[in-house]
Amino acid sequence: MSPSGAEVIRQIKSQVEEVDPAQVSEHLGNGIVLIDVRESTEWDAGHIPGAKHVPRGYLESRVEGAAGADRSREIVLYCASGQRSALAAHTLKDLLGYENVKSMTGGITLWKDRGYKVEVPRTLSAEQRERYSRHLLIPEIGLEGQAKLLESKVLLLGAGGLGSPTALYLAAAGVGTLGVVDDDEVDLSNLQRQVIHTTDRIGVPKVDSAEQSITAINPDVEVVKYKTRLDASNILEIIEGYDVIVDGVDNFPTRYLLNDATVRLGIPVVSASILGFDGQLSVFKPHDGPCYRCLYPVPPPAELAPSCGANGVLGVLPGTMGLLQATEVVKLVTGAGEPLVGRLLLYEALGATFTELKVRRDPECPICSRDPSEIADEELGVFPDYEAFCAAAG
Ligand SMILES: [Zn+2]
Repeated sequence: MSPSGAEVIRQIKSQVEEVDPAQVSEHLGNGIVLIDVRESTEWDAGHIPGAKHVPRGYLESRVEGAAGADRSREIVLYCASGQRSALAAHTLKDLLGYENVKSMTGGITLWKDRGYKVEVPRTLSAEQRERYSRHLLIPEIGLEGQAKLLESKVLLLGAGGLGSPTALYLAAAGVGTLGVVDDDEVDLSNLQRQVIHTTDRIGVPKVDSAEQSITAINPDVEVVKYKTRLDASNILEIIEGYDVIVDGVDNFPTRYLLNDATVRLGIPVVSASILGFDGQLSVFKPHDGPCYRCLYPVPPPAELAPSCGANGVLGVLPGTMGLLQATEVVKLVTGAGEPLVGRLLLYEALGATFTELKVRRDPECPICSRDPSEIADEELGVFPDYEAFCAAAG
């Protein structure tokens, strides 16, 4: 007579090494691979933070993706109560040759009873699943990355040439909160490049026009409008709480002010600038890489300061640079790829060339070499007198 299912399970459980939730909790993050073998609906209802999800039905085909090819790595499997994980552990050991596989006693039920943390992933509505389906299909973004985007808060400094394409694409990508700082109104001469605005909105505040375009693209996005100029009196209040700042400002004093305030608050800045046919791009991530002052300890020559007067720019150039900024924002929010930290990317449109320069942290940097709490309000944005600076440009 063949043994009953219950007998088989009992027999397999006696052969599989079990591990207590207390031990799993203690060793989480220390190189062990924790795999949840339950079904997707169970995973979505809550799982152990840091666990990977490989439903038992896909175990053989997907385990290498989660645990790697190294058969000696320590793997702990869990399910709801410890039965399915024991069976899965048996499969990994006997059929796939993983040498160090354990099953967590009592599953996530016992884990929860012991008061350990459970993470509930954000779920998407049917409409969101469809809207972001092309993101969900790339593993580097996926549901987790999309959820991060939807929860993220990104502040755009300026709804002009750079801010326009950045805002449109970040809105489309599902960034949950987009703050827009701009005190200007839409002008006919803007429309050659500031694609978030339209001819019928000439004279309308740019923050209102930007909001209209953003919400038309994606109702998931909440727009926070700041119809003001960033200065020392309001900067900390405005930028606090944002995850990433997109810098499209056109003047150096604000760039220094922004740098000092973001280093103090630890907020990464994706910075770009454009002039003529040339664009520059870098990511300033406080203490992870250099800051703006490490790159430009003194302001660049005044004749290169765009805000000293109206300068010409190829209309599509801010589109190119703004979308590179949007790409860096998505990478910073989702953790995908290598952000442009410590690197300055130069784009020259006429020759169609990209050049990358290394930028190092300056150990003597007046701002980022110090403890953020030591940076006083009066020190934010210290800059030579700007009118004199522009006058020197002739
Ligand atoms: Zn610095």
